[in-house]
Order: sequence, then structure tokens, then C-alpha cells
Amino acid sequence: MTLVQVLTKHPMKWAVFMGVLVGLVLLYMLSEATSNTSLFAQNYPRLLMAGAVVALALMGLISFQLWTLYGKLKHQVFGARLTFKLVIVFALMAVLPGTLVYGVSVKFLSNSIESWFDVNVDNALSAGLDLGRTAFDSMLLDLARKGEMISGELGDAMIAEESSALHRLREQYVVQEITLFSKSGNILVFSNALNDKLIPNPVPINASILHQIRTQHVFKTVESIPDRGLFLRVVVPVNRLSYEEDIQALQLIQPVAKNLATDADSVEAAYRGYQELLLARTGLKRIYGLNLTLALLLTLLTAIALAFVISERLGAPLSALAESARAVGAGDFTKITPVTGNDELGALTRSFNTMTRQLSETSAARLKDQEKLAAAKAYQESILSNLSTGVIVLDEAFRLKIANNSAENLLDAKKLHQLPLSEWGVKVAELATVADFLASQFREAHDQPWEGDGDYLSSHGNRKFHFRGTRLPQEHGGDYVLVFDDITEILQAQRDAAWGEVARRLAHEIKNPLTPIQLAADRLRHKLMEKLPEAEAKILERSTATIINQVDALKNMVNDFSEYARSSKMVPKSLDLNQLIREVMVLYESAEHKIKLSLDPHLPLIDGDMHRMRQVIHNLVQNAQDALQEYHQAYVMIDTSLEEEEVSFVVSDNGPGFSDEFLVRVFEPYATTKTKGTGLGLSIVKKIIEEHHGKITVSNRESGGAMVRILLPLRGAR
Ligand code: ADP
Repeated sequence: MTLVQVLTKHPMKWAVFMGVLVGLVLLYMLSEATSNTSLFAQNYPRLLMAGAVVALALMGLISFQLWTLYGKLKHQVFGARLTFKLVIVFALMAVLPGTLVYGVSVKFLSNSIESWFDVNVDNALSAGLDLGRTAFDSMLLDLARKGEMISGELGDAMIAEESSALHRLREQYVVQEITLFSKSGNILVFSNALNDKLIPNPVPINASILHQIRTQHVFKTVESIPDRGLFLRVVVPVNRLSYEEDIQALQLIQPVAKNLATDADSVEAAYRGYQELLLARTGLKRIYGLNLTLALLLTLLTAIALAFVISERLGAPLSALAESARAVGAGDFTKITPVTGNDELGALTRSFNTMTRQLSETSAARLKDQEKLAAAKAYQESILSNLSTGVIVLDEAFRLKIANNSAENLLDAKKLHQLPLSEWGVKVAELATVADFLASQFREAHDQPWEGDGDYLSSHGNRKFHFRGTRLPQEHGGDYVLVFDDITEILQAQRDAAWGEVARRLAHEIKNPLTPIQLAADRLRHKLMEKLPEAEAKILERSTATIINQVDALKNMVNDFSEYARSSKMVPKSLDLNQLIREVMVLYESAEHKIKLSLDPHLPLIDGDMHRMRQVIHNLVQNAQDALQEYHQAYVMIDTSLEEEEVSFVVSDNGPGFSDEFLVRVFEPYATTKTKGTGLGLSIVKKIIEEHHGKITVSNRESGGAMVRILLPLRGAR
């Protein structure tokens, strides 16, 4: 990772690091400033610039972070409030003590700087300086006096003796070095107290000193001679009247005591330093103040930046936890929060992950159980819905709760959902009787199982149901369960079978004596005819004829019975129903009432016994003709058509139709309204149709008249 990448990835950390670094350097410089002014002065501007740059960068970053934090707070991002609180706490932690220390430091700084420039210090330094000067002045005066005395004595001496006189005088007046110069500044005689080898070069004099000498002035100074230290130097004129060169210069050099020289030096240096400080006084105060301010600013900014860094470290795992918690709340147990460390937060995250995993396992198990339950429920429901038996569940208030498909079809129970038993009749009028029957059965049974048959007067005719009811135990809800079957067909079949048996026996019983009766009557007529007088013979003739005729009629009736009861096998062949109808209609061409045919030209073939089907057509048309006897402009209609994979054959008329009471037992043998009727016609029709696996319904037309509707399966359908 390059430096740029690191900087861009963790700018806050870097800013904190830099802030701390520059702040520390600033404080160090401050502490060193008093002892090492030059270092401070040299680096101060650069350091100030660096501090300002870091402070500006920190300020920019913090502003950016605060702006981001404000946005997060506004959108109520998780962790934003924590960050905000941490920032406030850290800032306060930095600001309060920081400001206190800052205030005290500034005060202390300004006081201590002021104390440097105390009047006493100033005076002491000036006095020290004056003291040094006075000491030097008196030493110079002393040396000058010695010089003048040596000059006086030297003036009287001979030139030849000059050198020795000078040596002597130097020793006599205890002077370290004496040099005699000519008027033009050339060295004439030189004497030094030091031994020969170490004798330094004489100190030369310049033109301005010579000028002073010429005007008879004494030159006095304290000066530092290179390689030799601080010296008192006095030059006095020597007036030699006996010479051409009347004025000579005598230079005396005396070293200053070493400690005195050092003291004077240090006093002067301190004074100079003091003067410098005095000049820089306000500047210093400003610089130190600025330094402190910058250090405080850096501390404060660093603390805030640190707050961001720490809150980010604390907030990141918390945010991750919150996000996972939200996911768990929404039902997603797959989210695992990354564990960030070994502290309490890490432990919390681990516990949360364990909890999520357990929840996930539990929910998976629950889902599995639910699926199993749903499958079992679906299985039960499929059994219930495929049951031909009607099943109904009523709640404690006898409101319909559940009804399976068969129940819905049998009772039209779709409209009854949540409807109490007492209101079934109000909603569906046909159900009134059934509802009353069921209510009374449940009431009388007193929560015990019961069984019973009830009538249902549906729009398709009277149906008979066999009901069984019971109440579930209270711990299973206390609902009422009703199971029922449509037993109309079974009853009908039972009745049909019974009537078949009766018919067969009756036919048999009746048929047996008929022929002997006929034969007996015939014999009576033959035997007695000639023996009786004419009048009685005629009576006999009429009576025996009546007996024989009536027995014939009886025979016909019995044949009808035996036809109904017959059990011979039918022979189905491929049959064109339209063709058969047309053939039968030939017999009715001269019939009293018109027969209208509406035959489907594309009617498919059926499997049928031609003779039996012929009888069906014949029976139905004859019935219609009979019913229309007293009607004018009456007609019979025969329709054939294809209806949903079945051949429909309908015989209807515009006669009186069936009465409601008769309609329910129209197929019963011997049920007739005619004086000479046997009541077997429709029974035979029904039997034949059932033998052909067809269905037959009898009803009244809405516009008046009877309608017999037959549905027959197509050829090869069974
Ligand atoms: P029968 O004709 O010997 O009476 P059926 O079984 O053929 O016996 O008829 C039974 C009864 O049904 C008849 O007595 C008659 O009252 C009634 N019926 C049959 N067909 C019709 C019809 N088309 N219109 C009115 N009533 C009819």
C-alpha cells in the first residue's frame, strides 16, 4: 500500500498522528525557547507554518466528519448518536482542562516574561557594568600615572642609556610591557617582563594615537589583544628636548586580572542579552502566546479527531450488530456478524451469532413441521373433498364452518358459509325442511351421536338424505360434525327391486288360473248353450264372452307386469336414435296431436337395444298424447342433441304437466292418474334407460307441460 493510499484510507488517523507530533514539537520548542533562543528563532516560522497546516487539515477533516455525522443523525443512522456523544465527551475532556491550562500558561508566561524586565534587574546590570568601568578607569589612571612618571624620568636620560633605563623603570614600576616609539611610530626600545622566548611582538600604535601624543594627550584604553587576552593600554608623550625628535610615544601594557576580565565580559554579555530581550519583549509574548494557542488548538482538534476514530471503532461492530438484529427481525437468520475482537463487544457479537444460528435451526425445524402439518392437512382435505359423502362441520353456535365438495354439491352449501342453521332456510328456501330437521335432531340428541333420514326438496326433485351427526369433545373445540349421503337412488333401486319381485309373482299367480278360467268359460258355453232356452242361452253367450274378453285383458296386463319384471338380457347394438325416432313416428302420423321433431343431424350413434328403445319412445309419446287429450292446439316435441359427450333425448308437451305430489313418485310402478292406466309405463322407461347406463329426469316446463329428459352415453363410451 502506498503512502497516498494509506492517507486516503485513514485520513483521520494520520491527521491525529500529525497533530500529536506537531503539537509535541511545538511544546518542546516552547520549553527550549528560553534556554536556546537561536534554535527557536531559526525554526519557529517553519514550525508555526506546519502547525497551521496541520490545524487547518484537522479542521477541514473534522468539519467534513461533523457534516457527515449531521447527515447520519438526520437519517437516524445507527451508531450516529453514539459517535455524537463520544465527540462531545472527548471535546469537553480536551477543552475544559486544555482551556484551564492554557489560561494559566498564558498568564504565567506573560508574568514571567514581564519579570525578566524587572527594574531591579535592569539597575543591577547597569550598576555591574558601571562598576567594571570604574575599576578599569582607576587601573588605567594608575597606569597612566606610572607612564607619566616613567616618561619624566626617561626624558632626562641619555639616548645611550635609554634601553637599560627602560628595563629598569619597567621593573621599578611593575609594568608588563613598555615600548618607546619614535615620532613617526617606529619602535625605538621594547621591554617585556616575560622571558625572552615567549616575548610577543610589541603592540603597534596607529596614526590617531600618534596624533593624540603630538598634542600632548594621554591615550588610555582597555582592549583585548589577539592571543593575549584583555589588557590595559596607555600611551603617554615623552618630551625629549635634547633630540631632534622632541616628542616620542611611550606605550605601557598591563594585563587585566583574569577573573576580573571574565566578570566584566559576562556582565557585558548579560547586559547585551538583556537589551536584546528588551527589544524583543512584545514579540516574544506574542510568539509564545501563539505557540500555546496552536498547541491548544491542536490538542482540541486531535481530541475530536480521536473521538471520531474511537467511535468508528466502537460504532462499526455495533452497526454490524444492529444490521444483523434488523435482519433477524425481518426473518433472515443467515446473517452472521463479523467478530471484531476479544473484548466484551466481541463476546456480545459471538453470543448474537450463536443466538442467530439457534434461531435459524429452530425456524428451519418449525418450517419442516409446518410443511409436514400442511401436507397432512392437504391429505386430509383431499380425502374429505373426494369423499362422495357430504361432511359438514358446524361451530358451537351451529354456524357452518367447513363443508366438503360433496356437501356443497348436495346441499348447495357454498352460500351458507358462517350462516347459523336457523338461517339456512332464509338464505336458500329449499333448505328450510332439512335445516329444521337437523336442528331438532341435534337438539334431541343432547350431544350424543344420532342417525336419521331427512327430505330435501331441491329444484331437481325430492332427494332423500341419510344423516349422521355428533358433537366433538370440548377439548377438540366442541364443534358439531354432520355426515350425510344421498340415498334417493338406493331407496329407488330398493323400491324398484321390490316392485319387480311383486310384479313377477303377481304375473305368475295371476297368469296361472287365467287359461283354465277361459277354458272353463268356453266349456260352460259349449255344454249349456244347446240345453238352455234361447233367452238364457243369450245371457250365457254374453257372460262367457265377457269372461273370455276380460281374461284376455287381464292377460295383457299381466304381460305388462312380466315385461317390467323381466330379467332377460338386452342386446345393445350401434343405434341411430334419430332413425329409430323417425320409424316410430310413422305409427303416429294419424295421431290427434301434432308431433314436432327437432333432431340433431350430426347426432352420434349410441349403444342400444333397438326393441327396448322403441318401447321407450313409444311409451313417452303415448303418455304425452294421453295427457293432451282434452287440449286444443297441443303438440308433442321430440328433441335430440349432443350435450357434453352424451346424447340428449327430450320428449315434452304443452299439456297439464305433473302435479308436485305426483312428481316425487312418478317412477314408482303402479303410480298412475289414469283410470285404465297400469302406472308401469314410466317405470319401464326408467328401467330401460338405466340398463343403457343413461339418466332420466322428469320435470315440468316453465311455460307449462311435461318434460322427460334422457341422457345416453355415446357409442363405445362404456
Ligand atoms: P300409465 O300411463 O299407465 O298411467 P305411466 O307410468 O306411463 O303409467 O304414467 C304414470 C302417470 O304419469 C300417468 O298416469 C300420468 O298421470 C302421468 N304422466 C305421464 N306422462 C305424462 C305427460 N306427458 N303429461 C302429464 N302427465 C303424464
